Amino acid sequence: MNDNEPSLSLMIREWVQRNRGRMTELLSELVSFNTVNKVVSGTEKECQERLLGMMQELGLEAELYNPEEVPGFHAHPAYYSGKNYNDRPNLSAVWAGGGAGAAGKSLLFSSHIDTAAAAPDWPADPFTPRIEGNKLYGLGSFDMKGGLVASMMAVRCLMELNIRLKGDVLIESVVDEEFGGANGTVAGRARGIHADAVIIPEPTNLALYPAARGGALWRVTFRGTTGLSFSGETIENPATAAARFIVFLEALEKERAGQAGPAPWFSDRKDHLPIIVTRLEAGDLNSPLCDVGPVVCYVDIWVECYPGVTEEELRNELLQGYERSCGRTFEEGLGRPSFEKMIRFLPGSSVDPECPLIPLLAEEIEAATGRKAEVKGAPFACDAFVFNEYGSGPALILGPSGSNAHAPDEYVDLDSLALLIEIYASAMIRWCGLQEER
Ligand SMILES: [Zn+2]
Repeated sequence: MNDNEPSLSLMIREWVQRNRGRMTELLSELVSFNTVNKVVSGTEKECQERLLGMMQELGLEAELYNPEEVPGFHAHPAYYSGKNYNDRPNLSAVWAGGGAGAAGKSLLFSSHIDTAAAAPDWPADPFTPRIEGNKLYGLGSFDMKGGLVASMMAVRCLMELNIRLKGDVLIESVVDEEFGGANGTVAGRARGIHADAVIIPEPTNLALYPAARGGALWRVTFRGTTGLSFSGETIENPATAAARFIVFLEALEKERAGQAGPAPWFSDRKDHLPIIVTRLEAGDLNSPLCDVGPVVCYVDIWVECYPGVTEEELRNELLQGYERSCGRTFEEGLGRPSFEKMIRFLPGSSVDPECPLIPLLAEEIEAATGRKAEVKGAPFACDAFVFNEYGSGPALILGPSGSNAHAPDEYVDLDSLALLIEIYASAMIRWCGLQEER
């Protein structure tokens, strides 16, 4: 909040403290719904229907819609085919601004309702929220039902304080973000839901991310020959080539870690770009044993990149680096592995460094936390590119603290969630503008 409105920020802070129980209740209810993304399908419907009721109770105009039924969805350049949207409605809600004077700017909070799969080692039921001290445990509490709840509570706060805004505040809860889905976010844009700026409440530990990395999940296939060399046949075991490739990837990850990323958001060398071997497969896994080598070896890899890098550039970097590390080119006889896309390529993206929402949010973070805001590139890939790369941005990422996203015992830090409500509420006032006849 501005220095000239200390009472308003105090009113917001006190409201948040009084209503912390409602925040926890709302989040607990959302966590209790199983909205696990099943890669091709999902089960978000029941949760979205309950959320619709919550939005309407709040006094927002809200609706559910099926992504498949949005005209222009399939024609959007970021649409990715092969997904099933039966029983997976998106939710869109708006708190309409208005009043006398010029129209204010609009602000959209875009959250995803699906979660990662429940990791196998959860010590308790991941859909039964558990509060211990300052932490609320549950699948999706951190990524990202907590941030969604903070955006709803911020609207509720302003409404109950009788604050009315000039610009619209929009809240959407989309399906199918995990596993590089992004189609839920695409459907919202195809439907014409746009705002002057977007906040994505993904987990950021109250840091502000005006940029995000990209990444690719590929299946890299090595082919060879099998059998026993009784007659002098040359056997080329593809597992050996795959092993060389993996050693090369390890070296490449280290090499990239020593290089700073593009300024201004990725120049911090501490956050290096990961390359992860996610799955390895070779040999007949159904046979009790194998007495010869495999004919094929699959190496699934997740490789991250900075904004501005294309899928082709990233793949070429790997292929050329592999040739160099083997001291032989594909033309000289090195076996060329094939790359198959397992999910859509997620491009990195960033907003214009001059975007006025950046200093505004940084100031509000500082006002709420008492600490200088950390402003940098996100150490992950997300749906921000759907806004920033296709003219529906700028989209900035700002969400709560917590830990264990995509892992057992995921939790959100409830103190940070309360601070996030303050930050969002104050940002709404400053960005959308106060109606004068308040
Ligand atoms: Zn997420």
